[in-house]
Amino acid sequence: MRLKIDLHIHTCYSYDSLVTPKELIFYAKKRGLDGLAITDHNRIDGALKIAKETDFTIIPGIEVSSSDGHVLGLNVQEQIPKWLSISETVDKIHEAGGIAVACHPVTFFKISLGEHTNSKLDAVEVINSSAFPFKHSVKRSKKMASRLEVAQVAGSDAHYGPEIGCAYTIIESERTVEEIIKAISKGICQPFGGAIPLKTRLKRQLLLFKRRYG
Ligand SMILES: [Zn+2]
Ligand SMILES: [Zn+2]
Repeated sequence: MRLKIDLHIHTCYSYDSLVTPKELIFYAKKRGLDGLAITDHNRIDGALKIAKETDFTIIPGIEVSSSDGHVLGLNVQEQIPKWLSISETVDKIHEAGGIAVACHPVTFFKISLGEHTNSKLDAVEVINSSAFPFKHSVKRSKKMASRLEVAQVAGSDAHYGPEIGCAYTIIESERTVEEIIKAISKGICQPFGGAIPLKTRLKRQLLLFKRRYG
């Protein structure tokens, strides 16, 4: 089965995201996604709660702030501590039964692994819809992934409903979380998608500003 999955989405359980559980499923269906990964900043509780409350295919995940930069843990059911080195963080993710993804490894305005990205990671997120400058980031990240010989994935890094599905990974797999994760770690997947349109980014910033100060 050919599945279209956004592997990097923040819900309102992340301090900086506007996406409610309802909007999450609404936009995922609207974009024709077969599944999605919830990757809130340093917390797993929202992902586990939302996954339990819906039939939609949800990969519980977490975006961990390691001392070397952000890293995604996909298919984890437990909290992964922050501020560990990248090597220790990847070990924790693997011990929890998950796979580790170097998210936005080359970009400005985000805390990224950069040269700390290594082949101990299972995949590199070569397309991140909020990376800047976008084209440069995709080119450098793809080069990095091929050099390390790890899987290439994509995700929107959405913090606002309309951003969901801007980038996605096509995965050849059965529709279960276990099989999807296995397929990614074997590299049976391909990254697709583009940058979040400027208009959408500005709308998100305005809504976040209003929520904070309005
Ligand atoms: Zn990040
Ligand atoms: Zn993120």
